[in-house]
Amino acid sequence: MRSTPLVRACSVVLGLLLAASGCSTSSDAPREQNSAVMASSSGQPGAETAATSRYVLAISVDGLNRRAITKLGKEGAPNFHRLIRRGASTLNARTELERTITLPNHTGMLTGRRVDKDRGGHGVFFNDDNGRTVHDAAGHHVSSVFREVHAHGRKTALFASKTKFRFFKRSWPASVDTITIDLDNARLVDRTRADLVAHPHAFTFLHLSLPDVVGHAKDFMSRPYLRAVRSTDKRLGELLRTIRHHTRLREGMTVILTADHGGPTGSGNHGDMTRRANYQVPFIMWGAGVTKGADLYDLNPAYRNPGKDRRGYAAERQPIRNGDVANVALTMLGMSEVRGSEHDVRQDLRP
Ligand SMILES: [Zn+2]
Repeated sequence: MRSTPLVRACSVVLGLLLAASGCSTSSDAPREQNSAVMASSSGQPGAETAATSRYVLAISVDGLNRRAITKLGKEGAPNFHRLIRRGASTLNARTELERTITLPNHTGMLTGRRVDKDRGGHGVFFNDDNGRTVHDAAGHHVSSVFREVHAHGRKTALFASKTKFRFFKRSWPASVDTITIDLDNARLVDRTRADLVAHPHAFTFLHLSLPDVVGHAKDFMSRPYLRAVRSTDKRLGELLRTIRHHTRLREGMTVILTADHGGPTGSGNHGDMTRRANYQVPFIMWGAGVTKGADLYDLNPAYRNPGKDRRGYAAERQPIRNGDVANVALTMLGMSEVRGSEHDVRQDLRP
């Protein structure tokens, strides 16, 4: 008999006192979230398969135009290219359909939901921390990858380089175990690396802002912008070195790298969600449990490379989206999907 996430969460906290009713370990867990998820056949929501990873590090590079990676090449962006060469990836993933701005897309990555709340989305259309929560935006409780990891008795961490990410800690106060906000990307990466070495969390989310900040100030794909992506590549190299040099990270960690949106050449505005430079993003996985040197669409016939299209949610074979982060992270950790999510809800995206 497989134990459920609830049982495992309880077992950690309460030891042998499982008979105690109403085990609740998180103050942001509403009662309906406490109903146990039963393991079912593979490929169905609620199913759990064996973990391939002990830890997941999700990295979002804010405003990363995929063309910067190819333009810089192996010389200018050796670490992005290393991830692609040694991992499973596509440079043709998609953002959420409704928005190509920061907060809606990060909410999608963390919840596995689209934006439009009238169609099951999280409702975060806005791009500034409004001082409230995701649940207010949606009109009901919204679960997250943080919440699901926590329900399994594991820990989470959020490292971000924009202050608006406090919105997520406020939304899931008990299941975001630690939050670090530092606008200096280099220092933020140092703090992330120190945390990974000292006590890696099951799920760590790292947000890097530099390409977006420079893109707004000096235009996307400009020389200063490309320098910012090159600098981000160095940060990535530092993270990869830390992972490679520590056995438990090298053997047990999966990295997922994507972007919240891109940004158009010669412009400092990425708000038009109908422009390909904005809605096209990379999606790269590397590390534990990941096929080396594979194209994610080749590995996953249930997903369809959208070519140049801005494909909607009605298409049966979806493009890989940045919003797949939540559920593919849970797949790697051997946990079932985020309750109420849509993207990769069957957890059939496999690296
Ligand atoms: Zn921006």
